[in-house]
Amino acid sequence: MKYIIALDQGTTSCRSIVFDEKFNMIAMSQKEFTQIYPHPTWVEHDGEEILSTQIETLRDVIKKAKINTEDILSVGITNQRESTIIWNRETGKPVYNSIVWQCRRTADYCDELEASGYTAYIKETTGLTIDAYFSATKIKWILDNVEGAREDALKGKLAFGTMDSWLIYNLSGGKYHITDYTNASRTMLYDINNLCWDEKLMSVMDIPSSLMPCVVPSSGQLAYIDESILGRKIPITGIAGDQQSALFGQNCVNFGEVKNTYGTGCFLLANTLDEKINSTSGLVTTLACKADGSVCYALEGSVFIAGALIQWLRDEMGLLTTAAESEKYANMVDSSDGVYIVPAFSGLGAPHWDMRAKAVIVGLSRGSNRNHLIRASLEAIAYQLNDLMQALNTDLNAKAAYIKADGGASANDLLMQLTADMADTDVIRPKNIESTALGAAMLAAIGIGLYNSTDEMNFADSTDRVFTPSIDKDKRNALLKGWNEAVRMCISHD
Ligand code: ADP
Repeated sequence: MKYIIALDQGTTSCRSIVFDEKFNMIAMSQKEFTQIYPHPTWVEHDGEEILSTQIETLRDVIKKAKINTEDILSVGITNQRESTIIWNRETGKPVYNSIVWQCRRTADYCDELEASGYTAYIKETTGLTIDAYFSATKIKWILDNVEGAREDALKGKLAFGTMDSWLIYNLSGGKYHITDYTNASRTMLYDINNLCWDEKLMSVMDIPSSLMPCVVPSSGQLAYIDESILGRKIPITGIAGDQQSALFGQNCVNFGEVKNTYGTGCFLLANTLDEKINSTSGLVTTLACKADGSVCYALEGSVFIAGALIQWLRDEMGLLTTAAESEKYANMVDSSDGVYIVPAFSGLGAPHWDMRAKAVIVGLSRGSNRNHLIRASLEAIAYQLNDLMQALNTDLNAKAAYIKADGGASANDLLMQLTADMADTDVIRPKNIESTALGAAMLAAIGIGLYNSTDEMNFADSTDRVFTPSIDKDKRNALLKGWNEAVRMCISHD
């Protein structure tokens, strides 16, 4: 038996997973790394800690799986997207921490870009809405604020990358400075029509092109892990941003097929194959993969805070000891009794796009208790997802037949049922909710020539459970009305 390893570099942890040739999960190793909050709305990671954590889990998972490195066919990499790191090509050292996708420090500059009239150009060229979420303004911030960075960048001494580039650069001993189409499409500097870095945007934001990685397909002979890491050179044959990887891992390879990942945030993607659809409803257009791993388009809606709201109830409010407990407490009440929580901790993402919105809790009464708040939090995830689904249905001019669910919080049955009820659509949960890592392994399998497309990889029924809508229509409409009012209250008014 031969094996494929997926490296899943997430927002809070690094995972390495060994899959066999039929994509059975043989072993997993996971380790969290430090979240750095230098200011209330700033989020950073230490790039070197991410690298050492990822390598640690890689070595650990090989031990756990009890396999020889000779039996590793190849490696696939998937990663948190947009988070931005710049390093010195000579020393290999980062010039600053990675600025994480959630970080809002460049919101003012985004306003300037908007005021200068770039909204339509950026949307048409990159598929994206101007927001601090994407890499471009984070790159500019580092060049403008780290001493000597701009001078070194102009001398060609620095390299930019998202976490895929950073890992591959280091794992290959500095031989490859690459990223794939899906990650490139999240930078707000990549022309998704012509598949190239956009010179005009680079010049508007004063970003030298020498910083940029070479953009490669998500599947193929892309790079190598240097011998010094595992004692043997191992090919890297798959790369994709985490959400596009999950779309692929969920086998959403037909037009309009939708997946949602319930993790820190919620990320809804619908494959639109060769059709680049410009959203009129607050979604963005991004690059994804076809069944054979080649590039295509997708519509995406991202909600910044989903599972993170449950984490907040646990860590900051002390209402839970584990995230999984949220289901038990929420089930102790029939409803949230008029309580709504809009978790705009990092502003609001799609479809509202308000960088300065602040979270609200409304509808409290003397009888409101912990269970109501916990239930309102799970409902908030479902409402946010419904907002994305309604936007998607408008853009596709059709109602999606189902959502394929994955991510840590999809283990919560109540959350799955609430989503089915609010979005009025079936929610399908697979047996393996690690779709992100699975997608990277599948891309790597195609890249090494083990299979030609996802059609050849459907080995067994992968469905765990289907949740169907069961709520009364009037009740649903009343609940959604309350949610929309709560959202209006947290939108910024300056
Ligand atoms: P990420 O990859 O974004 O770090 P994961 O897919 O590992 O996230 O999911 C973890 C998130 O899901 C956490 O924010 C956690 O609070 C939430 N979560 C995990 N299990 C549950 C559960 N049973 N019910 C509700 N939320 C959960």
